[in-house]
Amino acid sequence: MRTVLLGAPGAGKGTQAEDIKQHYGCAHISTGDMLRENLKAGTELGNKAKSYMDSGALVPDDVIIGMIEERFALPDCVNGFLLDGFPRTVLQADALDMLLNKMNCPLDVVILFDIDDEVVVSRLTNRRTCSKCGKITNLLYYHGENCADCGGILLQRDDDREQVIRNRLAVYNEQTAPLIEWYDKKGILRRLDGTRDRKDIFNDIKAMFT
Ligand code: ADP
Ligand code: ZN
Repeated sequence: MRTVLLGAPGAGKGTQAEDIKQHYGCAHISTGDMLRENLKAGTELGNKAKSYMDSGALVPDDVIIGMIEERFALPDCVNGFLLDGFPRTVLQADALDMLLNKMNCPLDVVILFDIDDEVVVSRLTNRRTCSKCGKITNLLYYHGENCADCGGILLQRDDDREQVIRNRLAVYNEQTAPLIEWYDKKGILRRLDGTRDRKDIFNDIKAMFT
């Protein structure tokens, strides 16, 4: 399958991507994760992206498109891919179309995760990542001090503070939400309710591919 997961920050794209990847064996391509890896490794790309990410703004399109182009060249993409957090602007979506046309493998579906802004704010302010194993935990549902899997310390992402979250939402509504209509017009948009349980959402997704 070749799929785009579309939706606001905190809509649950990353969580579903894990389940889809495990079930269908396709590559999970998260531009946010790739950028954070670059930040951590102190690469030139990471340094370029840092100030944008800190404020919740979008990293420039050319940086992102270059990164995606390189990623598509890796062998795991032959079994299909899940794009998570990309495209985020119409320009990125256009570039993606051109890339995929060149490789002769157009998108199957774009899955939109519908969710209210206020649900997002509450989810993201409670989101924590394990410093040791990377597991993502939400304090809305889990009340321990340490990672349930490995006991590691739970850390908050720098951009998961309320003011930055509000900014990320504003950026989403302004720059990314126009893609909903864009893909709907192409006839490949499918919607799902992002507030449902993880398992229910995954069942909805499986139903889209049968
Ligand atoms: P979320 O979806 O939770 O906001 P991501 O992990 O997808 O977070 O992205 C974190 C940050 O990385 C964004 O706020 C933005 O600065 C940058 N980023 C990620 N993907 C893109 C993209 N496709 N275009 C521009 N910036 C991006
Ligand atoms: Zn852990």
